[in-house]
Amino acid sequence: MSREQARRVLEQAQRIAVATHIAPDADALSSAIGLTLILRRLGKEAVAFCDDDLPPRLKTLPHADEIGRTAHGSFDLRVSLDASDPSRLGQAFRGLESLPLLNIDHHVTNIGFGTINWVEPAAVATAEMVLWLADDLGVALDPELASLLLAGIVGDTLGLRTPNVTPQVLREVVRLMEAGASLAALVDTLFNRRSLAALRLFGQALAGVQMEDGVVWTVITREMRAASGLHHANDLSLSSFLIGTEEARIAAVFTERDDGQVEVSLRARPGYDVARVALAFGGGGHPPAAGCLVPGPLEAVVPRLLAALKAAAQGETDGKAP
Ligand code: 5GP
Ligand code: MN
Repeated sequence: MSREQARRVLEQAQRIAVATHIAPDADALSSAIGLTLILRRLGKEAVAFCDDDLPPRLKTLPHADEIGRTAHGSFDLRVSLDASDPSRLGQAFRGLESLPLLNIDHHVTNIGFGTINWVEPAAVATAEMVLWLADDLGVALDPELASLLLAGIVGDTLGLRTPNVTPQVLREVVRLMEAGASLAALVDTLFNRRSLAALRLFGQALAGVQMEDGVVWTVITREMRAASGLHHANDLSLSSFLIGTEEARIAAVFTERDDGQVEVSLRARPGYDVARVALAFGGGGHPPAAGCLVPGPLEAVVPRLLAALKAAAQGETDGKAP
């Protein structure tokens, strides 16, 4: 129903501002840029925005260098991609608040902030939903669009390794590869590249790891970041690594930002749910991977989050893989 509404509202619009979330990942950027390519193929004006710096690894995605931070120009529709609440868009839509907003997302915690909301928690990536839209709108895949959409799917499934990767998803991957996307090149870009500075910070954070009551966690302080020379530490994939700890059911990484706020990156084993904890602290995500941004200081945030995480590590949810 809302997929149909999404198609219709996009067909009717002529000038479209597309935005994705701050701290962008591959799915965020690829779904936003991918949708603009689809809309341009239909003869429309479409521009993508992200109100944050792009991690270096994602600057190699097709058209990533054309992304603006805040929408400027004249538009008749806003589209939000991969963002579960409007704060995640930063100032991307500043000044355009009166325009209708189409909210396309796959986070179960999406609060339905659009004029039209198309939210599919069963989709492995927002990029997968954009692929469905391309089909609905009759836009054929070309190598650039296919590479973008495969980047989103590969990014959010950790290289097609998460439990939600079904035969249908793999058939979509085959279509994208046949249209010209390189799975090997994307896996290499998204997972096999890390700067020496990032590696050192990763190692330092790993050395400080702690474990209690099924929760494994570590902290990255401002001083650690400054010493490493890394301005942003949200591209380390450290929480995904920590959840591999045999004894752990939940993993958390606390990163102190320059403004004192604390970024919390959460992971859970199948059957445990960190999306609920993240939502309770003003964030969101998926049951196995979620996050939130919490006012500091770090010393206060860590024990509050740990109490909630330890409770979540006690209770299996419905036992089903997320
Ligand atoms: P990551 O730990 O990889 O940064 O994020 C894991 C998941 O949680 C992603 O789906 C991401 O969009 C979501 N997420 C991370 N931080 C936040 C946040 O501060 N707010 C919301 N709503 N979602 C977040
Ligand atoms: Mn996503």
